[in-house]
Amino acid sequence: MKEIVVISGKGGTGKTSIVAAFAALADRKVLADCDVDAADLHLVLNPKVDHRKDFSGSKKATIREDECIACDRCIEECRFDAIQYPVPSNGEKAETPYINPIFCEGCAVCVRVCPAGAISFEPVVNGEWYTSSTNYGPMVHARLGMAEGNSGKLVTLIRQEARDIAGRDNLDYIIVDGSPGIGCPVIASITGADLVLVVTEPTLSGQHDLLRVAQLTAHFRIPTIVCVNKWDLNPEITEQIEGEAQEHGVNPAGRIRYDSAITEAQIMKTSVVEYTDGAVSDDIKAVWQNVLYALG
Ligand code: SF4
Ligand code: SF4
Repeated sequence: MKEIVVISGKGGTGKTSIVAAFAALADRKVLADCDVDAADLHLVLNPKVDHRKDFSGSKKATIREDECIACDRCIEECRFDAIQYPVPSNGEKAETPYINPIFCEGCAVCVRVCPAGAISFEPVVNGEWYTSSTNYGPMVHARLGMAEGNSGKLVTLIRQEARDIAGRDNLDYIIVDGSPGIGCPVIASITGADLVLVVTEPTLSGQHDLLRVAQLTAHFRIPTIVCVNKWDLNPEITEQIEGEAQEHGVNPAGRIRYDSAITEAQIMKTSVVEYTDGAVSDDIKAVWQNVLYALG
């Protein structure tokens, strides 16, 4: 089994459309949407959820009012200003402080300093994850709550579940829609993968992002190839991107031309290679062949 992770320096480069096209082109695969902060692969692949589970990636503190002696130690020690006295509508100060769950970062300092042992520290549900069926094969995906951190843990969980499915069903490929950027979620998306395909656009920021991503994948020693999406919008920068990428050991995987059919296919909830036989589909098919070649 081979795991291919498709990533980009930032969101909106067409990464998900390319993953959806690969879903239609690849045989015997499982799909994993690890772009958990902005998951949208499900919008194209229409998964039918078979199993749904809560995700708990962190703990948060709460004060048990009946045990609190209002010494204020926790307020003094919380670096995130998450603890304060609520001010009720009558304007009088409450008898005990309250922890705002939005500001609580789960560091547990307050739990350690509380002389009355009045602070609970329990796991909280940060989101949900799903194993689903699609017309293209099984899919693992998730939904993270608003402003929730720990997306790296959720990404790791999704990849592991996809691996388990691939092992159980004897599948050939795991195709991962990875997180954008170079932070914790993208590191969780790529570590241990067989190949990373970076999707970029022919802009100066795309050029800059690609180099940052190339440094990251080089650090983790993951074979990496790059494809320039909408390359014909700026052939000159496309050349530069491919040239610089090669200097960093990242080979070109092909170019995809600009075509409104990509957006139209998304609106029609299908992959572009099924939506049109046009040249843009040939471009993506060529990139997929290069992916297979790079996998060896
Ligand atoms: S767990 Fe940390 S962040 Fe949360 S209230 Fe306690 S000290 Fe503040
Ligand atoms: S440290 Fe404990 S006892 Fe003191 S105010 Fe905070 S919760 Fe109450």
